[in-house]
Amino acid sequence: MQFVNLKHAQDRVDFATAVQRGLGLDRGLYFPAAIEPLADVPGLLALPFVERSARLLAQLTGLSLDLTGALVEQAFDFPIEQREVADSVHALELFHGPSLAFKDFGARFMAACLAEFSRDQPTTILTATSGDTGAAVAHAFHGKAGVRAVILYPEGRISPLQEKLFCTLGENVHTVAVAADFDHCQALVKDAFEDEVLRTRIGLNSANSINVARLLAQVCYYFESVARLQGQAPVFCVPSGNFGNVTACGIARALGLPMKRILAATNVNDTVPRYLADGHWAPEATVATVTNAMDISRPNNFPRVEALARRAGMPISDYLHAVAVSDENTLDALRALDASGYLADPHSALGWQALQGQLAPGEQGVFLCTAHPAKFAEVIEEALSRSVPLPPPLAAVRDKTVLSARIPADYSALLAELG
Ligand SMILES: *Cc1c(COP(=O)(O)O)cnc(C)c1O
Repeated sequence: MQFVNLKHAQDRVDFATAVQRGLGLDRGLYFPAAIEPLADVPGLLALPFVERSARLLAQLTGLSLDLTGALVEQAFDFPIEQREVADSVHALELFHGPSLAFKDFGARFMAACLAEFSRDQPTTILTATSGDTGAAVAHAFHGKAGVRAVILYPEGRISPLQEKLFCTLGENVHTVAVAADFDHCQALVKDAFEDEVLRTRIGLNSANSINVARLLAQVCYYFESVARLQGQAPVFCVPSGNFGNVTACGIARALGLPMKRILAATNVNDTVPRYLADGHWAPEATVATVTNAMDISRPNNFPRVEALARRAGMPISDYLHAVAVSDENTLDALRALDASGYLADPHSALGWQALQGQLAPGEQGVFLCTAHPAKFAEVIEEALSRSVPLPPPLAAVRDKTVLSARIPADYSALLAELG
């Protein structure tokens, strides 16, 4: 399988190279050169999750089935749950991994790939996070020999517990609080990638959702969801920030996974819903919301959604709808879900809210639960006036010291941190 740089069609590489480079020439994103519909989708749906995922990833990456089998076994070592929370409405819980968010799928598969592909070279993983990526990447690389992980995040804009979950690990995990918003953190990472000297010296590699390994890993849980619906085609509702998860869902569709359509749900950082409505790409300043992992107004992965439309002959308007949800409606949704007996984190509640009124009679809806409720305990406690019990991974870090460095949003400050 070849991967093509979306900014330079002649920059074509194999999967291992795309994963190691992270970004191509001129910050171009890599994307599969061709996505062919699978021959036997029902046969695949009948397989257990890990075996099916190994086959999907062998097809998507061009690696051998033996190798993807070994990588997937390391990476997907935690369960997925799908619960019917109301008639025909299903919660796809992707937060049962070590960092309690769906990003564990992509981060752990990518870490397994990088450890495999860069055995003898020094490697620095540099990534920007609006919260959950950092935790997933930190846990995925923590203790991996020969790899250092450097994680930037916007100071004061992620929840205190979220910070504890990934900024207290130490060893080969170095966290940096930047006095700016997520878009600035992301810009610093991009600057570092353009710095050829630095790149070679420290073996720079990216680990946010722009790395194609993460994206491909996420295709697997959409198949699991449909398998659990006995092959019925659902409407998928995806709480979205950087639009990696929506891209993965679109790839699943291009591979032939039965689904009615995709509903991308954003908070008031609604660049994509506005774009789909009026055709103008007009990002505004990023606003802080109760769904802070989605406080992104320049979604990095959107060019891949458009590339998929061109390459797989899937016009966006045929399958992708987008809805923006206010904080007020997200909190109301959280309360309504809780009253019906289901405790959701704010991002998942936003997804449920966006699905309301969108299902035709007889349709099944699946909303992605992207984080464990306890990860956003502060918001939930305020909305419900009661405390949320901490699951073991969070209870274990609650009283630990945050080890992060603090820098201004300035490239020379980042260079000093990278050493
Ligand atoms: C990252 C994240 C999202 C957004 O996913 P994208 O792939 O960036 O669109 C939604 N919810 C949570 C909890 C997240 O961590």
